[in-house]
Amino acid sequence: MNTAERVRRIKPSPSTAAAQRVRELKSQGLTILDLTVGEPDFDTPDHVKAAAIEAVEAGETKYTPVNGTPRLRAAIAGKLRQRHGLEYTDSRLTVGGGAKQVIFLALMATLDEGDEVIVPAPYWVSYPDMVLANDGTPVIVDCPETEGFKLTPGRLRSSITDRTRWVVLNTPGNPTGAAYTTTELRALAEVLLDHPHVGVLTDEIYDEIWYDDGDQPSLAAVEPRLADRVFLTNGVSKTYAMTGWRLGYGAGPEDLVTAINTLQSQISSCPSSISQAAAAAALTGPQDFVRDTVEVYRARRDTTVKLIGETPGLSCTTASGGFYLLVNCRQFLGRFTPAGGRIESDEDFTRHLLETQQVAVIHGSAYGAPGYFRISFATSTEILTEACARIAAACATLS
Ligand code: PLP
Repeated sequence: MNTAERVRRIKPSPSTAAAQRVRELKSQGLTILDLTVGEPDFDTPDHVKAAAIEAVEAGETKYTPVNGTPRLRAAIAGKLRQRHGLEYTDSRLTVGGGAKQVIFLALMATLDEGDEVIVPAPYWVSYPDMVLANDGTPVIVDCPETEGFKLTPGRLRSSITDRTRWVVLNTPGNPTGAAYTTTELRALAEVLLDHPHVGVLTDEIYDEIWYDDGDQPSLAAVEPRLADRVFLTNGVSKTYAMTGWRLGYGAGPEDLVTAINTLQSQISSCPSSISQAAAAAALTGPQDFVRDTVEVYRARRDTTVKLIGETPGLSCTTASGGFYLLVNCRQFLGRFTPAGGRIESDEDFTRHLLETQQVAVIHGSAYGAPGYFRISFATSTEILTEACARIAAACATLS
């Protein structure tokens, strides 16, 4: 069957491909230390599961309003009010099968052919392909490590054209863990105020997995004059270990939300009623799960940062949020393996880790960060410690 041009423009997500490769190697009997995983290694909290079971038993098994059950919408509005002091009425909230679907729908609802979307790199793998799938043009803006992997006002200003529809801001970010401070958001807002045709898609999926003081600020709250141009996206996947429940949400201007709901009404009608009940319980119920897991992630992050820092030739910055580290392996490019193979790229480097030490990580190029690789620390300290020892051993063989 011939596929459409829009499908031929894009590729399967590299993280899904990496997970598939790990599964294949495991099925061959190999023990792989898997640091590719983009989801919590914890189980969904019991009270959330109980809410889903109750929903099933109460017959909440039918289509819901396209923009979610009133209970879920109230829970989302409550979270945004409590966390950021933001007020969203029902007509400015939408829900979908994960933040991923909500972001995709926002792009589908707004992009015409040739419209540009500014994507700061390193970026979450899906943004450029989502833009391409919706006929847009991703404008990748390099944000180097020396600038904290963050978009600066200068780089933002020089990337904006008449065709710019959106700038994507993922904070805390995947794959870097970098997060924008209030001051940095305010500086970006100053530029955006000069360009009223540009919207901002904020991806705040890791907002609660947060290690620094205070809370991760949200652009819509930092600069209320942008409130009608910010589409804030988030979800329950990462914070509440609910990746499989597929529930995300978006909050923003009413006309955009209406357009997304129209698309959603023709695509899936609504997300799962059962997942909506579970998500409402997650957002409104006890939050000790979040506090406890963040402390576990923090300890793992600290261990991994220390071990990587002790490995000659490797370095990484400490993540402010999320559960990833982007490790700089540039010093190994151009070196040779014991078998005589030359490490030409970060992809060769990660292949060397996998083939010689059975450690799976994802090459930085997949995130627009050549010369780096991504470690997920959403796995046990034992695995992280052993994996770092093996990474060091693999590095030591390169000459
Ligand atoms: N945004 C970022 C930055 C992510 O890393 C991910 C998942 O990997 C998502 C969005 C998708 O989240 P969801 O499970 O809600 O679709």
